[in-house]
Amino acid sequence: MVITGCRIRGKEGLYDVTYDNGVFTKIVVHGKEEVPKDAYRADGRMMMPPFVEPHIHLDCVLTAGIPHYNMSGTLFEGISTWHEYKTTQPLVVSEIKERAKTALRLMAEYGVQFVRTHVDVTETSFKGVEALEELKEEMKDIIEIQTVAFPQNGILSVRDGKKLMEKAMDMGVSCVGGIPHYEFSREFGIESINYIFDLAEKYDAMIDVHCDEIDDGQSRFLETMATQAWQREMGSRTVAAHTCAMGSYNDAYCSKLFRLLKESGIRFNSCPSASMHLQGRIDTYPKRRGITRIKELWDAGINIALGQDSIADPWYPIGVGNLLRVLEMGIHAGHMTGYEDLQHCLDLISINGARNLCVEEEYGIEAGKPANFILLDGKDDYEVIRYLSPVILSVHNGNTIMEKTPAVATIHF
Ligand SMILES: [Zn+2]
Repeated sequence: MVITGCRIRGKEGLYDVTYDNGVFTKIVVHGKEEVPKDAYRADGRMMMPPFVEPHIHLDCVLTAGIPHYNMSGTLFEGISTWHEYKTTQPLVVSEIKERAKTALRLMAEYGVQFVRTHVDVTETSFKGVEALEELKEEMKDIIEIQTVAFPQNGILSVRDGKKLMEKAMDMGVSCVGGIPHYEFSREFGIESINYIFDLAEKYDAMIDVHCDEIDDGQSRFLETMATQAWQREMGSRTVAAHTCAMGSYNDAYCSKLFRLLKESGIRFNSCPSASMHLQGRIDTYPKRRGITRIKELWDAGINIALGQDSIADPWYPIGVGNLLRVLEMGIHAGHMTGYEDLQHCLDLISINGARNLCVEEEYGIEAGKPANFILLDGKDDYEVIRYLSPVILSVHNGNTIMEKTPAVATIHF
């Protein structure tokens, strides 16, 4: 198959891109060689590697309103509402899979091909784990899924919490998760982090921890995570998600912390739409934004990717799978609407996410790499974020997984 006359993100000029048997085989300057009659005409639109969703909870998606809505909008009412859901609804593997698949179809419409999902392992029937592990296998040629053993109610603060984590890892989950700021005490939080790293080493797994997802400037589990990652040289396989408390740290502490963050090599994930909705709820005014220091991490060269966290679940009532919407919110909240940032802001929902998932190897528009790409109805990052340009073609391992005809408006004046 040939895509003719496309821009390639980060390159000048137009190109013809050929892929066969799931792999990019040839990339030449447009017009240099004859192209087949059935070539896809890109008309100057931009091709780039697919969007990456680094943080979502597919076991919870599309459950908003059951058994009731989260009326306060806080993280903690979200957790208790989910607890009501999982203890009062019959959990059925086929139903969880169908909801998750509906969410994946939504994401596919917006160019997502790689997804890391958390799955609650304090839900002791383990139907969520079973469902998402099955889906991971069934969907692997269409969308690549990684799973995270997520102890929603804590590891030490739950009876047999460690056994539940181990059971999930035995079932094939890809990453070890955690929630140190939600454990009963600081001591439990610290012990949970040490345990998470031990477990990851035992199973040779990646780490992705909900860390300091709270507006409490005293929540400092990130320094323990980064120190563990530094000591064990596991930074490139470790993600600290949310780190909302960093938005409340004082600058003197934060400048000391950044030295460790850089040396540890850990990666970050922020979910601006979810955090702006959930955090700051207990403040009066001034009200905090509830997000981590996205711009400062980005400027320091530390890898940070943005994700959705939720699609219509007890934590966040809206969302349709569109990462551009999350990016738009993130660059506003993070003061990243300056000219320079806008030139490469799509990194936050593409290559940076790929680094968090450790899938950079299969990622990039280059001969010899898997034919994974999207085509956007725009010509560069600036235009795409300004117009929230739709993805009109999404190809994974050479298979077309989504095509869209861009809408045409007729203006009557
Ligand atoms: Zn989350």
